[in-house]
Amino acid sequence: MPPDSLTAGGRLFVIAAPSGAGKTSLVRAAMKGDPSLSFSVSYTTRAPRPNETDGHDYHFVTPREFQRMVLRGDFLEHAEVFGSCYGTGLEATKKALAQGRSVILDIDYQGARQVRARIPEVSDVFILPPSRATLERRLRDRRTDSSPAIARRLADSVNEISHWSEFRYVVVNDDFEQALRDLSAILAGRGAALAASRPGLAELVASLGG
Ligand code: 5GP
Repeated sequence: MPPDSLTAGGRLFVIAAPSGAGKTSLVRAAMKGDPSLSFSVSYTTRAPRPNETDGHDYHFVTPREFQRMVLRGDFLEHAEVFGSCYGTGLEATKKALAQGRSVILDIDYQGARQVRARIPEVSDVFILPPSRATLERRLRDRRTDSSPAIARRLADSVNEISHWSEFRYVVVNDDFEQALRDLSAILAGRGAALAASRPGLAELVASLGG
């Protein structure tokens, strides 16, 4: 399928972040402010968390169903993250874009690479926490995972952060309202000042351990 058949209508955005960067709240708030945005609900083989519902947070599927979808070519991208499989449904994404809606993919850096390779005009955004201390606090405050899981997520977060410079835009989530304005500017096509190449970001990343 040629890439332009995917993006003929709306614009496609990838938003990635280490866990603990505050991505979910930011994306939710940005979507509230712009009804033309549509969120892509991913497929995953991981178990639902207590507050999650099937079809809203994720489409929860078995590893076997997931594998079948991979073989059928049902995914725009898919990857293994934290030991579970995650994938973006191709048809739903195509349909939303064809309807002129802009679509947000909340995916990891591996998925972002696949989307970039397939759709070079994608706008990809990486969200960073403002400090190592904030990252650790946000991971602890979630309370939805056990302590070993939190320690592992911290290590995984640092790994995810190491891929920040592959992205076109970077938002630092220090002050929530400012980060929301920044993300909304990118989604509105006014993100030039938020380029990943701007000064100061490399120092911040070094202090995060990435
Ligand atoms: P969680 O299990 O905490 O909801 O998500 C774990 C990680 O998987 C997050 O970084 C999230 O962005 C990523 N993720 C969620 N859906 C997808 C997807 O469809 N594809 C890829 N590649 N990553 C995903």
